[in-house]
Amino acid sequence: MGRDLSLAPCGLVVERVETGAAGLLIVARPALTTAACPTCGSASTRIHSTYQRSLADLPAQGRAVRISVRTRRFRCALPTCGQRIFTERLVATAARPFARRTTRLEGIVHHLGLALGGRPGQGFARRLLLPVSKDTLLRVVRRHAAAPAEAPRVVGIDDWAFKRGQRYGTIICDLERRRIIDLLPDREAATVAAWLTARPSIAVIARDRGAGYIQAASEGRPEAIQVADRWHLMENASAAFLTAIQRSMQAVRNAVGADVIDPTVLSCAERRQHSGWLRREEENAAILALAKQGVAIKEIVRRTSKSRGLVRQVVRGGRTDVFRSRLCSLDPFLKHLDMDWTNGCRNGAALWRRVKAAGFAGGLRVVAEWATRRRKEEATTPGSARPRKAPSARDIARMMTTERDALSKTAARTMAIIEVAVPALVTARDLMDRFHGMIQRRMSADLEPWVTDAMPGLLGSFAKGIIQDRAGVHAALTQPWSNGQTEGQNTKLKLVKRQMYGRAKLDLLRARLLGPA
Ligand SMILES: [Zn+2]
Repeated sequence: MGRDLSLAPCGLVVERVETGAAGLLIVARPALTTAACPTCGSASTRIHSTYQRSLADLPAQGRAVRISVRTRRFRCALPTCGQRIFTERLVATAARPFARRTTRLEGIVHHLGLALGGRPGQGFARRLLLPVSKDTLLRVVRRHAAAPAEAPRVVGIDDWAFKRGQRYGTIICDLERRRIIDLLPDREAATVAAWLTARPSIAVIARDRGAGYIQAASEGRPEAIQVADRWHLMENASAAFLTAIQRSMQAVRNAVGADVIDPTVLSCAERRQHSGWLRREEENAAILALAKQGVAIKEIVRRTSKSRGLVRQVVRGGRTDVFRSRLCSLDPFLKHLDMDWTNGCRNGAALWRRVKAAGFAGGLRVVAEWATRRRKEEATTPGSARPRKAPSARDIARMMTTERDALSKTAARTMAIIEVAVPALVTARDLMDRFHGMIQRRMSADLEPWVTDAMPGLLGSFAKGIIQDRAGVHAALTQPWSNGQTEGQNTKLKLVKRQMYGRAKLDLLRARLLGPA
């Protein structure tokens, strides 16, 4: 008769241990001699009958372990109680009612399921001698996830990448209790609206400025206060300023001088491509501006009459190359050409023969054009081998928002030229600064004057967007709530997703993130 308590979970007394082909069998009984009636609560010692309950347990000494517990049925001690006979419950540290596994095994299975998911978890469990299938793993994870949440009052809604760039879901946080309360499989307005409708306790909804969540909040909880996210508002203002610069690039180039890309130093083919590029840049800026306002791709296609594929490409950040194809064939030989040129070989035909010997497959014209361009370059920019580059729209945005003193002399001069030549950009910059200041200092009284001032200028479409979301923006200036926390939770979610080696299924993520913190 073994009395080694360490073999069985707390609350059970080991009677004996049997070794068989299947592993160890621990025969045990509950340590307590009484049990409380589940109906009236009175303790009883009157045993009615017994039966064997079988529990899978953690492996020991390289063997699978089962515990056979002699479980008792008691007669209720209270004569007036409706419950005549009841089955004793094991202490929670041993096993839950009706469980087929000990609590300590269930805990390990739960963590395994969370960390690895079903199928990989099953393979690993077999190695650990844990008797569980992949379905069991998932079932255990889901059971533990079904924790009832308190009714939320203030929620933050944001999207999250299920699969980066491909599939997005929605993350919802309880902003008062600072925890994730749900993950939804997509970011469709209908899905989110249905979720909100089912939770009448929600009074405040913090969300970004995407059209989808505005619609969802308005339909799902029309009476709730919507708060536009302050961080997104700041971002949107900066993006609107950048768009304003992009749309003014032609004027900026004219002001700074021909040194952006001097069309006279380009070959014919490049010149065609360059003017095409300028046109494309303007188209891109227009498409991006619409996308920033949250206009759906379908609608952008309709308004710009560009193809759907093209619009998608631009929105994703493609299509920014200046010269394509033509220079590519020569690219690997540029170093070679450069060396020959520096060594004094200035004849197109002679240069072509040399690169041809080095493996260049293209025609004489390509090399001759390169030589012509090179000659012009040296004539127009004495002392420098490469043409100077004008600042990009992004650089201009940065320099226009930096104190003049902090800029280099050249940059300061360039900025001065741009600001004199394109005063609308200065106005746009000042409006953006005012907007940022208003958000940071929560000056709700400044909102209407700002909109009035911004409507006619380069930030007009951004101002229009603000008007459309006026209540949300006003709430952002008056309410204490912000979605910043949701963004933080989103980071946590990304981390967990990564730990799960990309095998993250929605329900497992939910289980892992929604459980008691
Ligand atoms: Zn009773």
